Amino acid sequence: MEFNLEYLIRDNIKSLAPYSTARHEFTGEASVMLDANENAIGSPVSLDIGNLHEPLNRYPDPLQLELKKQISNIKGVPVENIFCGNGSDEAIDVLMRIFCEPGIDNIIILPPTYGMYSVCAAINNVQVKEVPLTSDYQLDIQAIADAVDDRTKLIFICSPNNPTGNSINRQDIEIVLNNFDGIVVIDEAYINYARQKTFTTQLVDYPNLVVMQTLSKAWGLAALRIGLAFASKEIIGYMNNVKYPYNINEATQKLALQALKNVMQVNEWTKFTIAQRTWLEEALAKLPITEKIYPSDANFLLVKMKQANDVFTYLQSKGIIVRNRSTTKGCEGCLRITVGTEEENKKLIEALENYPG
Ligand SMILES: *Cc1c(COP(=O)(O)O)cnc(C)c1O
Repeated sequence: MEFNLEYLIRDNIKSLAPYSTARHEFTGEASVMLDANENAIGSPVSLDIGNLHEPLNRYPDPLQLELKKQISNIKGVPVENIFCGNGSDEAIDVLMRIFCEPGIDNIIILPPTYGMYSVCAAINNVQVKEVPLTSDYQLDIQAIADAVDDRTKLIFICSPNNPTGNSINRQDIEIVLNNFDGIVVIDEAYINYARQKTFTTQLVDYPNLVVMQTLSKAWGLAALRIGLAFASKEIIGYMNNVKYPYNINEATQKLALQALKNVMQVNEWTKFTIAQRTWLEEALAKLPITEKIYPSDANFLLVKMKQANDVFTYLQSKGIIVRNRSTTKGCEGCLRITVGTEEENKKLIEALENYPG
């Protein structure tokens, strides 16, 4: 069967008359705006960033055009192929609501992987089919093909994968893209730290491709909540119809615009974090409790440890919080450790060197 977007979209979404805001309907320069029932007098607080002094009484741009232009410049993806969400969580949820008929359709996830895909599916009453990654955390192509049925709408591939840290082989992802007639979502939250290249360059080749990225990791803006999705303009159009009209607030839009000027700074931080990852890897490898450190293309390490649970509790007692994945299928006995600052990483290693167990 051929890829057919219209066939994949839920009927109610295809026929949806989306909410049209006052700001959607008028885009020119206006001096008297009496169209949106805002408070024309002003706001009790305003946005002050650098030279910017902006009151907050007006609704923000529902399609975040200024922000998308800057993202377009940085990522080399046209504006019409970009979706901005209130975190990647929103992109995941919107995709599920566009494509998956509750109680009927299903998605495929590849555990161990990011927890949000299955939580979001559960909330939307969408069945989740799990096809575990292989023992070296790569795609089991045959098992994925076997799991696909005619109600499978989305396959989520996380690369670099959370919590394992590795990138998924590019050729394997391409096999899925070439053979699955539903939507392939590649979650590239950690792409800045990866040796592997992004898939955003291949949107023209694959009409069934959605690439997700985020400003929460390398960009250091987890608190702002901006997730990105890149896809065909048709898919992006549906995502814009389904999202809340003003999903990215004005303060976030303006702060992100300011932040996105700092590409060089972010690149430096990224290099530094990768160097610290190597340092942490070498230091962890010397510890008697370390059994295995998985190769990482992300800003964290998955580490198999003797008595992982006890080590986790011990670290906690020292005020050091890591992620306990020791009971997660495929990650037995493992802790997931984020690469911190130089000082934090040293504290972690010092604590582990003194582990009494
Ligand atoms: C951290 C992370 C995200 C980012 O989520 P946001 O909602 O954008 O903060 C997305 N996917 C994966 C796999 C992650 O680990």
